[in-house]
Amino acid sequence: MWSKSGETLASLANTYEVSVDSIKWASNLKSDTIRPGDTLTIPPVSGVVHTVKAGESIYTIAKRYGTSAQAIVNYPFNDFEDLDTFALKSGQLLIVPDGVPPQEKRPIARGPQFNQISGGQQGSGTFIWPTSGGVSQYPIWYHMALDIANRSLPPVLASDTGSVSYAGCISGGYGCHIIIAHGNGFSTLYGHLSRIDVSVGQGVGRGQTIGQMGSTGRSTGPHLHFEIRKNGALQNPLGYLK
Ligand SMILES: [Zn+2]
Repeated sequence: MWSKSGETLASLANTYEVSVDSIKWASNLKSDTIRPGDTLTIPPVSGVVHTVKAGESIYTIAKRYGTSAQAIVNYPFNDFEDLDTFALKSGQLLIVPDGVPPQEKRPIARGPQFNQISGGQQGSGTFIWPTSGGVSQYPIWYHMALDIANRSLPPVLASDTGSVSYAGCISGGYGCHIIIAHGNGFSTLYGHLSRIDVSVGQGVGRGQTIGQMGSTGRSTGPHLHFEIRKNGALQNPLGYLK
């Protein structure tokens, strides 16, 4: 795009909801000042547009930009030569999203509460943290879910009471995952599991163990991908977790 009179990097960053630095990096700008008629590239998300060089992997690139390989994989418009290994092609463009500013400390997710197990299949509409660990990816427009990582592969718990509507594995995407319908318009999804302990149709109580954290599907390391849907529409889980 061409910059117009009166526009600044800050106003453009605000309009397109990306960071000033993202526009500077993508446009190869050396200073913060733009002139009318300058050619600018607005990346689709805050972060870095990286041209892959021979020998690079998502792990070396993530380390270089202070982010996680999973954040690169989570960005749905990044292409990979091999979806199992996330191999990259030399010369391809890769968006390295910056989900959390580097200076911001990532909070540790609260451990699950085991004392609230209740019977029946009708959910309460409030949700407990489904596992323990650190938040490795916060909800963002292209990833309306919470990633919770923990190398010790803790159990995964039903976030609210309901019945299992899906329990199975696919080769990419969510990998081995469970969907629980809560009988009140809400459903929750638990992805990348290493083990599934429930079957379709089974009633589960809030706080009940349903499986174990893993790294199946589109995943680079052990983490739980957790979604809350209301009448089928993805919700920001942070607005519901107690
Ligand atoms: Zn995720």
